[in-house]
Amino acid sequence: MTQTDHPYRVRLHGGRNVHAARHVNGSANRVTGCGYYLPEDSTNHWMDDDTAVTCRGCQRAMGGAR
Ligand SMILES: [Zn+2]
Repeated sequence: MTQTDHPYRVRLHGGRNVHAARHVNGSANRVTGCGYYLPEDSTNHWMDDDTAVTCRGCQRAMGGAR
């Protein structure tokens, strides 16, 4: 299981998909599995950890189709 590689769930400001994110090494900034960079002070909607990821790029980053 690689799900914990991206423990955070986020809906980007104005977006519809739920992405999976992780911290950039050693910083408060986060990056999604599909490559969106999320600075610490950016406006995004963080969701519960068990929210289903709907972004295909993030699903791939987490270990394949679900
Ligand atoms: Zn994504």
